[in-house]
Amino acid sequence: MMREETVFGPIFSRRLGSSLGINLLPREGKLCNFDCVYCECGWNADGRGDRTLPTAEEVRKALSDKLETCRAAGTSIDSITFSGDGEPTLHPDFAAIIDGTLALRDRWYPSARVSVLSNATKVWREDVFQALRKVDNPILKLDAPTDEAARLVNKPVGEYHVEDIVRDLERFEGDFILQTMFLRGPGFATEDWVEGWMDIVRRLRPREVMVYTIDRETPLQGLRKYTVDEMRTLVRPLLDEGFRIQIKG
Ligand code: SF4
Repeated sequence: MMREETVFGPIFSRRLGSSLGINLLPREGKLCNFDCVYCECGWNADGRGDRTLPTAEEVRKALSDKLETCRAAGTSIDSITFSGDGEPTLHPDFAAIIDGTLALRDRWYPSARVSVLSNATKVWREDVFQALRKVDNPILKLDAPTDEAARLVNKPVGEYHVEDIVRDLERFEGDFILQTMFLRGPGFATEDWVEGWMDIVRRLRPREVMVYTIDRETPLQGLRKYTVDEMRTLVRPLLDEGFRIQIKG
């Protein structure tokens, strides 16, 4: 699913309420340093048509116009979420865009929550880390507890080491939301590595864990989802230990 607008919505979701989306990636392409087998935007190779990123000023203007229009129309906005066709922290001006977004939020919809969905690969950058600290909901992906499992599910482009990411995430001191995809594919399944994943959750102690499974069409054929009951059984030890876990089927 490619989103051509930089600011889109608001769309309604049960979890976020009335939500505006911001896509920092190319309007007609996909840009990510992962190539997840389940990515709703398809394979990287199929999304190379457009490499142009919106500038920080274009994002600010698009968001400002949208918020002003929504305010004038009396439309409620509960959240503003960065979730586009790729990885938002790859944008070179990500930190400045977050500052601009928070200022506009404070002006037009002070009670709206700002969320960022990220694969956490750029948390090592101090400006990205500080920007993620400022938003209400940094929702950071960690699907696999080993480099080998990550290669099967996320297909990182270039260097990627789970241990480095975990160390980066430790700097949040638990003040973030961990998001993990549970799925079965050809020759692998989340249950094969769920113990190692749970050990990482225990290390990081995120304030919330979001576990979900495939929902739409995926680029790799042959993936199978888990039921909510199966996912609950897999994360039962963490639930018993008091972790807050949202399970989405
Ligand atoms: S990190 Fe997100 S955008 Fe990137 S390939 Fe994975 S699912 Fe797609």
